[in-house]
Amino acid sequence: MKKSKVILLGAPGSGKGTQAKALVSKYGYQHLATGDILRQEVAKQTVLGRQAKDYMDKGQLVPDDLVNRMVYSCLDKLGNKPFLLDGFPRTIPQAEFLASKGIVFDMVICFGINLESVLSRMAGRLTCAACGASFHSQNNPPKRGMVCDECGKTLVIRDDDKPETVKSRYETYLQKTEPLLEYYRKQGIVVEVDATQEIKKIEELIAEQVGENNVCQV
Ligand code: AMP
Repeated sequence: MKKSKVILLGAPGSGKGTQAKALVSKYGYQHLATGDILRQEVAKQTVLGRQAKDYMDKGQLVPDDLVNRMVYSCLDKLGNKPFLLDGFPRTIPQAEFLASKGIVFDMVICFGINLESVLSRMAGRLTCAACGASFHSQNNPPKRGMVCDECGKTLVIRDDDKPETVKSRYETYLQKTEPLLEYYRKQGIVVEVDATQEIKKIEELIAEQVGENNVCQV
């Protein structure tokens, strides 16, 4: 049986977005990526976007209450469809918020990666500001120059993918997000993946886990 509520947990640049794309096309999950939603809010200059922008530019987390409300309204619209949360929760209070709404997860996939690997990956990361698709100049190049394979819009290097900001985002991950691993380990739903492996290899390992009843270590 397919796992229907899944969290993708990992440092920035660990490959969550790339794997989410594969899971969506293979299993039809709804993909909810808080970073993408926030960037769209910033681009549209909504109230939320204006509140979030400064935090995002500095590589800091947007306050829990703002993100919680945003995610809850998205989840509400999904109804009973299977979904992947990518980039949420990122703090213990965010996980507690989901629990307080009665949302119970089937699996947390943790993408393990060190800072050195993150920095080298981010150095070549290209992102589509329109649809959120992500590519890498060497490991996963787009088919046509700086054009998004998914929607045809121009790819950019995100401001917060610069090395100094990446370091600060990684630090934030260690301090605020990594404790979630222990939180979900207690529920026995964590699968850990070595995220430094080839994209295809990780895809296969995750597919095995998502399609099975039993949760075990990859
Ligand atoms: P991402 O694309 O997931 O790396 O997110 C980009 C930025 O959006 C992060 O560095 C944060 O500033 C903000 N953000 C995304 N998700 C969250 C979250 N769950 N909690 C707080 N801030 C978030």
